[in-house]
Amino acid sequence: MSTILVINAGSSSIKYQLIDALAEQALATGLIERIGEPAGRVRHRTSEGTIEWEARIPDHTGGFAAMVRAFAESGSPVDALGITAVGHRVVQGGAEFVEPTRIDDEVAARILGLADLAPLHNPGNHEAIIAARAAFPDVPHVAVFDTAFHQSMPPAAYSYAIDPAVAARHGVRRYGFHGISHQVVSRRAAAFLGRPVHELTQIVLHLGNGASVCAVDRGSSVATSMGLTPLEGLVMGTRSGDIDPGVLLHLLRAGFDAAELDELLNRRSGLAGMAGSNDMRDVRARAEAGDAAAVLALEVYTRRIRHYVGAYFVELGGADAIVFTAGVGENQPELRAEVCAGLEALGVELDPAANARPGDAARRISTERSGVAVLVVPTDEEVEIARQTWELVAG
Ligand code: ADP
Repeated sequence: MSTILVINAGSSSIKYQLIDALAEQALATGLIERIGEPAGRVRHRTSEGTIEWEARIPDHTGGFAAMVRAFAESGSPVDALGITAVGHRVVQGGAEFVEPTRIDDEVAARILGLADLAPLHNPGNHEAIIAARAAFPDVPHVAVFDTAFHQSMPPAAYSYAIDPAVAARHGVRRYGFHGISHQVVSRRAAAFLGRPVHELTQIVLHLGNGASVCAVDRGSSVATSMGLTPLEGLVMGTRSGDIDPGVLLHLLRAGFDAAELDELLNRRSGLAGMAGSNDMRDVRARAEAGDAAAVLALEVYTRRIRHYVGAYFVELGGADAIVFTAGVGENQPELRAEVCAGLEALGVELDPAANARPGDAARRISTERSGVAVLVVPTDEEVEIARQTWELVAG
């Protein structure tokens, strides 16, 4: 029995999937939204259809009660599902969680203890863990961390060049995020190439609403673009990515406070800030219609990705593969072509026809003679959480 319930919770929402971890297949998916607001919303999907309703959901405990009700109404009550374990996505595992971890009271408390490093994420993750353990008391619960894959980075890759005493006192270092995605995508890329992951060097580009790059050296993360928080690195849907820290000081002196800077850099920057939409499809459509702000946003977005591709190529001493994943990476051939343009000297030769061909499976978009394999590999973080949870509990 490898049926795993995967929970990805925020402060006001719970996404869940029931997954057969061995078959790597979702059996049911659901979303509980607007927890704590006057009208909450439940949507539950199986191969049989979709069930939806609106009602007030006061808290995460109410959210799990709604989930149990949705399973029952869909004809598969949770008691009959044979759930083996519950896998929780946890955003920040700090320096202490380096692998999936079985949750007991102490682990739950340590996850909450990391909240000052991830104030937008860990409190919601923790609330969901408490509520889920009460709703499903008879099965093991496992935390799978978005940071854990990057704990293999060497000190030179995770240290910022600041006073080490200040850094230590405040936990200031690079943690990196999207680790679950970088891990599953690099594993699937190796499987696609028919090579063991521990023989390959890969540059993985996770380009979704959030975006990050990871240098994967023989299966381990050795560098990644996100830092202490998911704000560093690439240009994202609403986040600035890399910026001179002096800009923050300049704006602080100009009268901004911390909350305003947070809002500016996390929610009003990136594609949204530069071009008026966080959706890459809109930005490209506007650019094609001649909107100069959208053209510039795309140029900045692409230039930043190429900056990291170059850096990680050097870091890895050459790459066997460049791998595109997530919403933009999987679906925008134009962007992939722009990222790879003019890189023949590095051994990268895109096959325009293969790049243009739509698909939803792992595929090669470089020519046969390209020294670097350029791949599109769909990510599936929920399946990876289920797989890691299953591996831990099956021992
Ligand atoms: P999240 O980080 O929220 O999981 P996704 O991985 O779904 O985000 O990526 C969202 C981004 O992917 C958006 O910018 C969206 O425009 C882009 N995207 C999704 N589907 C397509 C598509 N078919 N063509 C081009 N871009 C797409």
